[in-house]
Amino acid sequence: MKAVFALVEHERGKVRRSGLELATKAADIGRELGVPSAAIVLGPGAPEAVTALKRTPVDRIYTGAQIPVEQFLGDPAVDAVAGLLERTGPSALLALSTNSGKDTGARVAVRLDAGIVTEVTDITAKDGKLVLQSPKFGGSVVSTIEFKNSETQVVICRPNSFIARDEAGKGEVVELPAPSRGDYPVRVEEQVSVEAGKLTVEEAGIVVSGGRGLGGPEHFDIIEALADALGGAVGASRAAVDAGWIPHAHQVGQTGKTVTPQLYIACGISGAIQHKVGMRSAGIIVAINKDANAPIFEFCDFGVVGDLFGIVPELTKLVRERKGAA
Ligand SMILES: Cc1cc2nc3c(=O)[nH]c(=O)nc-3n(C[C@H](O)[C@H](O)[C@H](O)COP(=O)(O)OP(=O)(O)OC[C@H]3O[C@@H](n4cnc5c(N)ncnc54)[C@H](O)[C@@H]3O)c2cc1C
Repeated sequence: MKAVFALVEHERGKVRRSGLELATKAADIGRELGVPSAAIVLGPGAPEAVTALKRTPVDRIYTGAQIPVEQFLGDPAVDAVAGLLERTGPSALLALSTNSGKDTGARVAVRLDAGIVTEVTDITAKDGKLVLQSPKFGGSVVSTIEFKNSETQVVICRPNSFIARDEAGKGEVVELPAPSRGDYPVRVEEQVSVEAGKLTVEEAGIVVSGGRGLGGPEHFDIIEALADALGGAVGASRAAVDAGWIPHAHQVGQTGKTVTPQLYIACGISGAIQHKVGMRSAGIIVAINKDANAPIFEFCDFGVVGDLFGIVPELTKLVRERKGAA
């Protein structure tokens, strides 16, 4: 293998923590394999993203501010990344399990006839090969996967699976060539940012989640109040999302987001395996549930058996009082 790349996403130059985690992982794997590591950032805002990536241990940062990723759906990014990998030779590409990461990663894999493994939560190197961990069957088993007969290897990683390290690498910046074609079949007409400015569940250090136990969308206000008081984000179970009480962007679990906050407070959530796989790596898990036999009490760190409508507002009041006194 010649190199390990991390395809890092950014929003107008702002790199989320998961992008820094991916770059750090690429650097660590590169070191273990004895090959260079690099991050790739494309599109407008790339120079700002480069500044953020210089604080990760990657050897090199490929940047392509002029690559029109915001104007055309998918194609410019696929051309740029596949071209870079082709020029490099056998290498690994790490991308995030986001819509854009999965789209680009899968299309690059097809273009280069590469193997691809998705939903990866850990990567190590053994005997010069990548060893990948990926949960299956809703997280009830974790499979260990290696590539077979695949020169280029694409690994789609779940956000929040690795730890970002604030450590400057060699920081060599390399400009990618401008795209050779001027037009692509699908053009982006408009981009709409949802809830811009609000902390997302993936990046928040504290997540307060509500489930079916809330009984209706109007009761999410008590979850929001506690999240606000703690400076955290609002999460939800799929039951609450499927009922239309809160948008899918807040869903935690197998078909939602994987979160790793320092503190996760589950309110009125039973703790089904599909929810657990999205939050079990949180630092401290607190469960508030009126059913003492709810499965969540089997894996939480602190369990409160009782009515969330009494407990959550009281907790919010206490947090506000403590903050006021501090
Ligand atoms: C393929 C697949 C993918 C899935 N993906 C996801 C996923 O990504 N995320 C996810 O969350 N689920 C997912 N699910 C659904 C999952 O199996 C559960 O159905 C879901 O997590 C249940 O949500 P809940 O805990 O809010 O609801 P319930 O299981 O109904 O639990 C509600 C809880 O609230 C408690 N409660 C009720 N009233 C109060 C009160 N006043 N005070 C305190 N506690 C109270 C009850 O005791 C109960 O434990 C998936 C399922 C499948 C099949």
